[in-house]
Formats: sequence, structure tokens, C-alpha cells
Amino acid sequence: MNDFDDSADYDLDTLAIRAGTQRSQFGEHSEALFLTSSFVFESAAQAERRFVGGEEGMVYARFSNPTVDMLQKRLAALEGGEACVATASGMAAILSVCMGLLKAGDHVVASNSLFGSSIQFFNAYMSKFGVTTSYVEASSIEAYQAALTPATRMIFVETPSNPLTQLVDIAALSRVAKAAGVLLVVDNCFCSPALQQPLKLGADLVVHSATKYLDGQGRVLGGAVVGSKALLEEVLRFLRTAGPSISPFNAWVILKGLETLNIRMQAQSANALAVAQWLEAQPGIERVFYPGLPSHPQYELARSQQLSGGAIVAFEVKGGKDEAWRVVDSTRMLSITANLGDTRTTITHPATTTHGRISPEARAAAGIHDNLLRLAVGLESVSDIIADLQRGLAA
Ligand SMILES: *Cc1c(COP(=O)(O)O)cnc(C)c1O
Repeated sequence: MNDFDDSADYDLDTLAIRAGTQRSQFGEHSEALFLTSSFVFESAAQAERRFVGGEEGMVYARFSNPTVDMLQKRLAALEGGEACVATASGMAAILSVCMGLLKAGDHVVASNSLFGSSIQFFNAYMSKFGVTTSYVEASSIEAYQAALTPATRMIFVETPSNPLTQLVDIAALSRVAKAAGVLLVVDNCFCSPALQQPLKLGADLVVHSATKYLDGQGRVLGGAVVGSKALLEEVLRFLRTAGPSISPFNAWVILKGLETLNIRMQAQSANALAVAQWLEAQPGIERVFYPGLPSHPQYELARSQQLSGGAIVAFEVKGGKDEAWRVVDSTRMLSITANLGDTRTTITHPATTTHGRISPEARAAAGIHDNLLRLAVGLESVSDIIADLQRGLAA
């Protein structure tokens, strides 16, 4: 039996398919799904060693599970991290990082262009436990620097941001974070490790919503944190105690999704670029936000930091909410849903969905206008996607 050598220097395509694979005594070719909540021991003495004696091995699925372990090893390899902790969802990953590494009195500096639930999480919940958060202009390194206080423990960013695709220069921000002795956490949801590896650019931790591109087919919820063993020890302790652990079934689905991650990301990025170029040429469009277009203010940074522009295109239509909704409601094929990272193209009106529950002031600060739409471009034919958008724009 030819076991995969995780320590060898393999390319991303190979790691995405083979890293982390652990075979049972049956020698199954495809990764097995271990649907078991607990594990048995050979003896009372072994149970003691597993629980308190530091012996490696499975105990209980809130702690560990072989299928989950394979996902964690594979994602760690893809991100170039020492270790990975998989979680029940992307928000559970962010929760676990904050609960594991922050305490009352700590301060977080965050990008003002985060995923809506992330902003809600910091404002409504971390604040209840005495952790304060300051938001700064997403792409301004000076703004992060200026917002640091002696209590700052963490900088939290997404790049590209959701939905405006603002970029953060990860290498530059990591120098600011290191000089101040604070952790840099990057939500790598939009790029996935196929397009961007923040740890290699100096980030301390990467968080993922595996619900998005890692599964890639809109089937299950999942999340992950990747980074050094030392940092992840605290995150893992919280997860094992509090229990936002991933289901082995979901972990197995995501493992299967990872096998096609790179090929999907490349194809969806190519589709997105074509759609973005077409949108930019339409008279009914005010503005297009796509890091792969030369008109993007951070086009050069995108070229150096990401392998492509990614699959998310945001655009403002001429007019307001009515005109934006007309584009959404004129589609016949695109999915009207807030999810992204799927093979099916989705269209969303952020102001009334993903960012609908934050205050109008916070929404304005994040630059989410009523005429903004977000497309998460999938794998359908580009001409069919364009034809579906054309209808609403022509109306
Ligand atoms: C979806 C998303 C999350 C949250 O992930 P869930 O799996 O839905 O909990 C976090 N960050 C970004 C950028 C996202 O798009």
C-alpha cells in the first residue's frame, strides 16, 4: 500500500487530492467516512492513557475523528500551515479563534468591509465579554497602524472583501502586526488556498468558511482555522470544550470538494473575468468591482498577491434599489441566494440580505449602497450567465 508522504514537496494539485489520506486496515482507495461519535479502547489502561496519559488516538468525536483529521491535514498542507482545526461553520472558526485567543479587555482592529455576520459577531457578542473592536478602511495599512492601542491583540481582515473586493496587502499588514506584537488573522474565504496563501505572506492564522469554495458545490457547512501548532492549541482546547466541531459527514464532503478546488477556482475565475469585462462595457452599469480588471484600484496588488481575480464580481447599476432588484428579478437561470462559492452562479442584493441586519450607518461605512449587486460566478457557460444579466439591464 502506497501511503502518501505529507512531508514531500508536492504541488497544490497533488496535495488537494492526496494530502492527509489515512487508510484503515481495509486499504480503501477513497477516504472513508467514519460515522462514529466515540471510540473503544483495548483496556482500562489504554483508556487512561488516551484520556490523561497523552497517548495519541481517537477518544470522542467532539475531540477528533479520522475523517475530520484527514480534512485538517489536507487543508494545513494546502495553506502551508503547521496545523488545522476544522469547525462546524466559518462563523464557528471565527468564534473559536476569538474564544481561544482573546480575553476581556482585549482590543481587535478589523477591516470595515467584513462579512456581515463577522461584524455582527464582534459588535453584538465579543463586546458582551469585554472585547472591543475598531473598524478601519479595509485597504489602508496606515489606518490599521493608527488604530492600534496597547490593548490590541488581533487584526482581523478579509481579502478580497465581501462584497466589494477590496484588497488588503497581507505582507505589508503583517509587518505592522509583527512590529506591534499582535496577531494577524486573514479570512481566506474568497480566494481559497488555490489563489492565495496568507500564511506564506506573513499572516498568523487563516480562517475559512469551507461552506464556500472548499466544498464548492453548495452542499454542507464547515469551517477551518490554519496556522502554527502553538496558536492552534488554544483554539483546539476551546473547540473540544465548547463543541462547535464539524460533523464527520460534512468533513468528508469537503474532502471530496477539495479534490477539484484548483481546477474549479481557475475556471470560475476565468468566467468571472469575462463577466466583469462585459459588465464594464454596459451602459446601465455605474461601476464594477473586480480585482482582475485594470480599473480596480488595487489591480497591481491583486496580480502580485493572488493567482487570479477570483470568482466574485460586484457591480453598481445606474439607479437605486429598484433598478438593482429588477436585475435580480429578471434572471431566469442564476440562483437568487446569498450563498457563494458554488458551481452555480448566484446573485445577491447585499444591502437587503447579507448586510441587511447591520445598521444603515455601518452599512454606509462598509460602502454597501442600494444599487450594489454581488455575483458569485460559477461554472455555467459565460454566454448563458451574460444573457441572464442582460435581460434585467435592458429592462
Ligand atoms: C460565509 C462567510 C463566512 C461565514 O461562514 P459560514 O460557513 O456561513 O459560517 C465568513 N467569512 C466570509 C468571507 C464568508 O463569505
